[in-house]
Amino acid sequence: MVGTAAIAAPVLSAVASCAPVPEKFDGHKFPELGYSFDALEPYIDTMTMEVHYTKHHRGYFNNFMSAAEGTELLNMPLEQIFESIAKYPVGVRNYGGGFSNHVLFWENMTPEQKDIPSQIRQAIEKDFNSFDKFREQFSISATTHFGSGWAWRAAGYDGKLFITATANQDNPLMNIPDVKKGVPLLALDVWEHAYYLKYQNKRAEYVDNFWNVVNWEAVNSRLTKSGLV
Ligand code: MN
Repeated sequence: MVGTAAIAAPVLSAVASCAPVPEKFDGHKFPELGYSFDALEPYIDTMTMEVHYTKHHRGYFNNFMSAAEGTELLNMPLEQIFESIAKYPVGVRNYGGGFSNHVLFWENMTPEQKDIPSQIRQAIEKDFNSFDKFREQFSISATTHFGSGWAWRAAGYDGKLFITATANQDNPLMNIPDVKKGVPLLALDVWEHAYYLKYQNKRAEYVDNFWNVVNWEAVNSRLTKSGLV
């Protein structure tokens, strides 16, 4: 499976006011993909997966490492960097975000569909009335977000789940205006590079098919680790 700081075991503070940070951090690492490039066919095509992982994600990682070279950023988990992202050059925000967001994205997809764990199902039903309502709201957010960016389902620091969208490579961990803060649970990449080869301009169809490959166990595990809900 994918293993990086972004998903390492966190330390839960008594009062959760920010994202859990890994207990032990031993440097930024480009993650393994937990499945083959063709594993998510026919919903996400092989060519898109290969280019997305080997070129786009690798590019974000390499550029982030260049931006971090010789600085304190090399010794800081991404969660910690994002908490004070405004004080760093914009390249750290863009490439660090791109590095981190794709780690979550790969991890929250799987070719093996299983039942949705009851904990995450109940949390969704509590905060969105029904699972279908949640799915509909998330799909609308992902489909209507203008331009490049991400759709998120996150756990808020008030203990409630929420859906939001961010521009470019921003994410809910970043301490910047216009971003609702929380711990990301489910991420969907809506940059055109994530779907254009197969779906061209039909983003709604891509979003619709995404539901066939969601790794609900990974999403549930993030919920548990967040300590928020
Ligand atoms: Mn992408």
